[in-house]
Amino acid sequence: MNDPRPATLNPDALQGDGLGCHSGRAEMLAAAQQAGKSEVLEQYARDYPLAPEAGPHDQPQSMCPAFGSLRVGLRMRRTATILSGSACCVYGLTFTSHFYGARRSVGYVPFNSETLVTGKLFEDIREAVHKEADPDKYDAVVIINLCVPTASGVPLQLLPKSINGVRIIGIDVPGFGVPTHAEAKDVLAGAMLRYAREEVAAGPVAAPRNGRAQLPTVTLLGEMFPADPVGIGMMLAPMGLAAGPVVPTREWRELYSALDCAVVAAIHPFYTASIREFEAAVRPVVGSAPVGYDGTEAWLQAIGTAASVPQARIDAAKNAMLPAIRGALAKTPIKGRITLSGYEGSELLVARLLVESGADVRYVGSACPRTVWSDADREWLEAKGVRVQFRASLEQDLAAVDEFRPDLAIGTTPVVQAAKQASIPSLYFTNLISARPLMGPAGAGSLAQVINAAIANKGRFDTMKAFFGDVGSGDQAGVWEGVPVAHPEFREQTRKKIIRLQKKLEQEAIGT
Ligand code: SF4
Repeated sequence: MNDPRPATLNPDALQGDGLGCHSGRAEMLAAAQQAGKSEVLEQYARDYPLAPEAGPHDQPQSMCPAFGSLRVGLRMRRTATILSGSACCVYGLTFTSHFYGARRSVGYVPFNSETLVTGKLFEDIREAVHKEADPDKYDAVVIINLCVPTASGVPLQLLPKSINGVRIIGIDVPGFGVPTHAEAKDVLAGAMLRYAREEVAAGPVAAPRNGRAQLPTVTLLGEMFPADPVGIGMMLAPMGLAAGPVVPTREWRELYSALDCAVVAAIHPFYTASIREFEAAVRPVVGSAPVGYDGTEAWLQAIGTAASVPQARIDAAKNAMLPAIRGALAKTPIKGRITLSGYEGSELLVARLLVESGADVRYVGSACPRTVWSDADREWLEAKGVRVQFRASLEQDLAAVDEFRPDLAIGTTPVVQAAKQASIPSLYFTNLISARPLMGPAGAGSLAQVINAAIANKGRFDTMKAFFGDVGSGDQAGVWEGVPVAHPEFREQTRKKIIRLQKKLEQEAIGT
């Protein structure tokens, strides 16, 4: 029998304690490159570029990026998703999946140093994939290499492309190569679209569950609130177009329908790998989304033009929608200064809607990168005086809250916590903003209620702050049985110790 060890397996990835997102990105990257993963990592570097100064995205600041791919797999019918990675990573990812209602088992191929360096892990993965590939149950089996297997060069590309007719999709999703979980969704969606595109090129494929659409369709790229595709469909109808599938799709055969569209709407602008597949299928791609008055007007025009719809029909679609949007915006105004940050990729769209609702938006931070598909939204916001920060770090988001002292900070968990501590009303982007319609007339009034209610809470924060003072903050945080006693002398002793240690290290460095 052949030696199963891939020639490039790299045991250096197991050195020391540095085996995850707490360790240096540089070491992990170097190990992965040495282990034969250069090509995939170079593609990721092009698809998901870091800020010029690299910044904190050299390590994940939010949840593990692989969660994006895992979630896409878990939400698809007849799809098994298997992780290959350290047990602690898999524990966290499984926990988060079930927290978000996965209702599906997450597969796991465990490893230890020995199975990793001898190549046995790859054999275990192959065995697990063969066991899962039951065509009665699954259309596809997804296997995801996390940080350590990627850095060690576990070669998922050597797995069979299909087993018993079940497609096998192996992807590397390391935290040191894919900066955010939003972009990790694109890694899997792009891999699936590529597979489906090759199937279409090779011959007939399964028809959609409800038959092929009668009208030319617009594929919607990016997860959105379930009512939004319905609303978009109503906006497209006067142009003789229909809303197509949302990518990432919920079923394998929807991938074929997605590729079979007239136009792709890159509602979320960071799906670079997926867009590459649509472009390979010669489908035009349009950025931005039908949010607010200006956004809807521009989007309908761009979609209609890309789909070669006569101008009279484009105008009919605008006339059917725009007055209702203007009315909804005027009826539900938002008053107040707002900063907004998130990692979902829809931050600029939400900011546009807030500005059109009358809010004084000063800052938008997105953990996602700038792409040509977000240019129109960025330019619109900047023309209104809003500072737009792509690849925003937590530090930049917090600095914006500090600088603008908003009436409301919309952001990620640590931003919301910091704002609340400073008596600034705040809302979680993911739970409270993404869980509402944004598009067309339905989106125009949907944010006002929750935002105005949050802003009106300022008085309660001031009352709480006045009541509690600085009890429980700083050195006094935690549970105490008596009144906390400060010991400044301990702090002084520690400070001196650190200075002595630093001097010693400096002298040693000079001596070497
Ligand atoms: S797989 Fe995720 S949690 Fe594990 S080390 Fe990588 S980035 Fe961190």
